[in-house]
Amino acid sequence: MIAYLEHFLHGTDNESRPHDDFTGLSHLQLHGTIDCSPTSIATRDFGGMQSVKPLAFIRPAAVDDVARVLKAAAASSNLTVAARGNGHSINGQAMADQGLVLDMRSTEEYFRVVWMNGSPYVDVSGGALWEDVLKRCVAKGLAPRSWTDYLGLTVGGTLSNAGVSGQAFRYGPQTSNVTELEIVTGKAETLVCSETQNSDLFFGALGGLGQFGIITRARVVLQQAPDRVRWIRVVYSEFQDFTRDAESLVTRPEGDSFDYVEGFVFVNSDDPANGWPTVPLSPDQCFHPIYIPHAAGPVLYCLELALHYRNSDHPSDVDADVDRLLRRLRFVEGLKFQVDVGYVEFLLRVKRVEEEAKANGIWDAPHPWLNLFVSKSNILDFDRVVFKRILKNGVGGPILVYPLLRSKWDGRTSVVLPESEIFYIVALLRFNPEAPKGPAPESLVAQNQEIIQSCCIRGFDFKLYLPHYKSQEDWKRHFGNQWTTFLDRKKSYDPFFILAPGHKIFSRNP
Ligand code: FAD
Repeated sequence: MIAYLEHFLHGTDNESRPHDDFTGLSHLQLHGTIDCSPTSIATRDFGGMQSVKPLAFIRPAAVDDVARVLKAAAASSNLTVAARGNGHSINGQAMADQGLVLDMRSTEEYFRVVWMNGSPYVDVSGGALWEDVLKRCVAKGLAPRSWTDYLGLTVGGTLSNAGVSGQAFRYGPQTSNVTELEIVTGKAETLVCSETQNSDLFFGALGGLGQFGIITRARVVLQQAPDRVRWIRVVYSEFQDFTRDAESLVTRPEGDSFDYVEGFVFVNSDDPANGWPTVPLSPDQCFHPIYIPHAAGPVLYCLELALHYRNSDHPSDVDADVDRLLRRLRFVEGLKFQVDVGYVEFLLRVKRVEEEAKANGIWDAPHPWLNLFVSKSNILDFDRVVFKRILKNGVGGPILVYPLLRSKWDGRTSVVLPESEIFYIVALLRFNPEAPKGPAPESLVAQNQEIIQSCCIRGFDFKLYLPHYKSQEDWKRHFGNQWTTFLDRKKSYDPFFILAPGHKIFSRNP
């Protein structure tokens, strides 16, 4: 198999490929392994809508292996390299057609808590899963501050996008909660970078879609881990009431708000996957539709909140804090649900969903998801056009919608956002049985396009999160006035266009 690779890497016609003097993978002396199996996991991702065959799936054992592979690719005229985190992209972003895929999860585990100026941080490998980072930090009484909803994702994978959940209104996305990265660039240089050292690479890589280098280590800001969480859901029939309360909660000072603020849209019906039954937090709770106002529309809204506390806090103090915060909100009386859970259980809440979805086959079915950031100035119109009309029957899974604050995002990173200080993340997390039992994925992709078109036609200020485009023109539009910086960084750190070919921003072999 290695001989086959060498043949490919040299090319069949040496004269037409003058730079293919690369000596082949067998000479790399990797400590990890090389798998050329066409059935390898590198041919698919969580989206399940694309399948491309890489030349090889490489499991690097350490940073040195990553650098050797990139050096080899740079010495060839045609090879591309994709870092694969946990492959939870939707549109082939971590794939490399006829290129090399690096399984970042296989790199040696690195975990070290460091204290600097009295504050704790943790150094972790780029291929570490967030759920493992959580467990190891909590064992030391510490925890990262900013999360994603689901933790079966790698550190390098979410930092290459943003990493958003209900804590981001206070601490910013995960990209605002790292102070140092170790990166192997497309030139095979291993560099440590931070706000003060190689800062252009540091900010470029954060939200940089893997375009400038492979993150092999990250230093993540920590806080004291709480012991427990009061997890609450309250229901609204009017979107305006929902947004007013959500925006008020995310703009209040710490101590005068919850520690986690999210929200979702659900269908005003008894549909088990899209409607009232999706709201209660435990099997002994019941959604009583009798409380829904008569004037309610086809969809309702749920604000999801959490307050951290310690085992030593008296239950009546926790109750008093929660009551004080809830008293100001205008949710539908009678439609309030709450449970007390351990902090780790709360953060791993989607793992239970994963287990159920795996058991009934919908975890492995295609997921034509759509994620958007929509400006506050357009969110009421978005509700009218998209939630109430296009999505009035739901998406078979959560439709998240909650506000974020632009000032908590560092404008020097590669992430692009709408212009306004308050903007909403909208996430259509479609979970459907495979066709023909469920809808054809193409029809759902078409619905996503209809939503994007509706936003464009109305001139909404919005950006795709976890973006996916097929042409460089579209990417230029996406980045807007940040395109030049993005392109300059690409030329500096990956001048041969080797990295992350799955995004189709740049092409090594035009
Ligand atoms: P992959 O899909 O493997 O890779 C994603 C991109 O990052 C690719 O371009 C890849 O080349 C690049 N990459 C991977 N590792 C590295 C590295 N070490 N260095 C440089 N580049 C690298 N996102 C949120 O923000 N909030 C959420 O709450 C959230 N929930 C999710 C829940 C589920 C069930 C799923 C499937 C996704 C969710 N996401 C969420 C999206 C998720 O953050 C992104 O899809 C993320 O990229 C997945 O991480 P991964 O490790 O699987 O990365």
